[in-house]
Amino acid sequence: MSREERKLRKHFEEKAKRERRLAKKFSRQRPGASKSAPAGQITEIGPGYCDVMTGSQRIRCRPTPDLAIGDHVLFSLERRRVEEVLPRRTVLSRTDPHNARVQRVIAANVDVVVVVVSLKNPPLRPGLIDRYLIAIGKSGAAPLLCVNKIDLMSSDEELDALQPYQDLGIEVLLCSAATGEGLEILSATLAGKTCVFTGHSGVGKSSLLNALDQRLDLETNPVSSVNEKGRHTTTSSAMYELSNGARVIDTPGIREFGLWNISRTEIARYFDEFNVHRCNFSDCTHTHEPFCAVKTAVESGDIPIARYQVYLRIVSSLA
Ligand code: GDP
Ligand code: ZN
Repeated sequence: MSREERKLRKHFEEKAKRERRLAKKFSRQRPGASKSAPAGQITEIGPGYCDVMTGSQRIRCRPTPDLAIGDHVLFSLERRRVEEVLPRRTVLSRTDPHNARVQRVIAANVDVVVVVVSLKNPPLRPGLIDRYLIAIGKSGAAPLLCVNKIDLMSSDEELDALQPYQDLGIEVLLCSAATGEGLEILSATLAGKTCVFTGHSGVGKSSLLNALDQRLDLETNPVSSVNEKGRHTTTSSAMYELSNGARVIDTPGIREFGLWNISRTEIARYFDEFNVHRCNFSDCTHTHEPFCAVKTAVESGDIPIARYQVYLRIVSSLA
């Protein structure tokens, strides 16, 4: 595990501890939030309803406005409504397109975000991967880079582009939904976890899910140059269980996850390990400025070069 990862893990462990403490306090403060109210997980949200899964039962309830798929809740069986949303372990969110200060929750309590990419057809887009990683980094979930369509690979050198992610300590899996290569490892990695699959359209997300569990029978589409955003017209979010016990969340928001505009302040927040190094200018962008403490830290190896390169790529994509 890299220093980076240890730091992140420690951060999230502390965050989880804080949340558990808060939850305890909260439940003490609100005796009315019935101790006997049954608990369950939100497995579907649609217009005006949500489904709460408790044991093997699925109960349709009235949702609360701030509810997200994956939420653990207390609910009232008599009133058929959600009474309380329990603290979230992880939160996938995106900035509201109309108000950059508002965060919209896409899904809660996700363990792994599987970023599916392909090397060819469609080609690899490292800039897109960086954006996904930023958004995942904020969420508390673990990223998994799943490189699909390796049956189309003609030489090992095509994998060189993935080296920076491996250097960052991100798990990279090579697989092919077409030949089945790597699927056992993918299945074992996800077993029992709550995950989402994201990535550019045409990389093979549906094909991979179908290969992991034939019962799904998701529609797959040949790669086309047409903008396919309109293809998914469903407005509801759902969670379904694969035969390996993995729970996969599918929501409309996840399809655009990572694709929105990231502001400079968000980037600074994500690369907060840069902030311990005091640059000459307080508004230093760590690119061209003289006496930049971040660049010095990169040179001395205090900040991993791969991490700095990701930063530079994102900053230049914003320029
Ligand atoms: P999605 O948009 O990410 O869900 O992608 P799809 O699952 O719909 O797949 C897009 C296209 O890529 C389809 O024509 C699939 O048959 C094809 N495809 C998916 N996985 C593979 C693979 O591993 N190898 C090859 N050669 N083609 C694949
Ligand atoms: Zn600097």
